Amino acid sequence: MSIKRTPADDYFSKCVRARTNYTCERCGKQYDKSSAGLHCSHNFSRRHRTIRWCKENALALCFSCHSWYEGNPPDSGVWLEEKLGIGAVEILREKMNSKMKVPKTEEKDIAKHYREELKKIEKARANGVCGIVEFESWQ
Ligand SMILES: [Zn+2]
Repeated sequence: MSIKRTPADDYFSKCVRARTNYTCERCGKQYDKSSAGLHCSHNFSRRHRTIRWCKENALALCFSCHSWYEGNPPDSGVWLEEKLGIGAVEILREKMNSKMKVPKTEEKDIAKHYREELKKIEKARANGVCGIVEFESWQ
């Protein structure tokens, strides 16, 4: 898929991966922070700007689990509903279908927001917090 990545995408991706301490949310394998092996996988495509930077729309998945997710509908859809809960997936669908506009000019603020959230996660890790460290979603 060739949707151009912006700084907002980069900081959002970093937050999603740091949230699980660089651990795949399907197979449980942990990665180095700098590894390209762990992806920020969008549950519904980044084409949908109303949920492109919504934390409920993203999971940290390793290359292999990301490939499985993208290549195996409807099984991956069933898996997602089990993972998030059917209600959460419904909310995502509603947000996805919303006609609200997310202007380009907002992306600068989104990048700034996730840069700050990333700092908070990293601070928690430095203080020895393990497991999931949640962050505030912009959308
Ligand atoms: Zn995995």
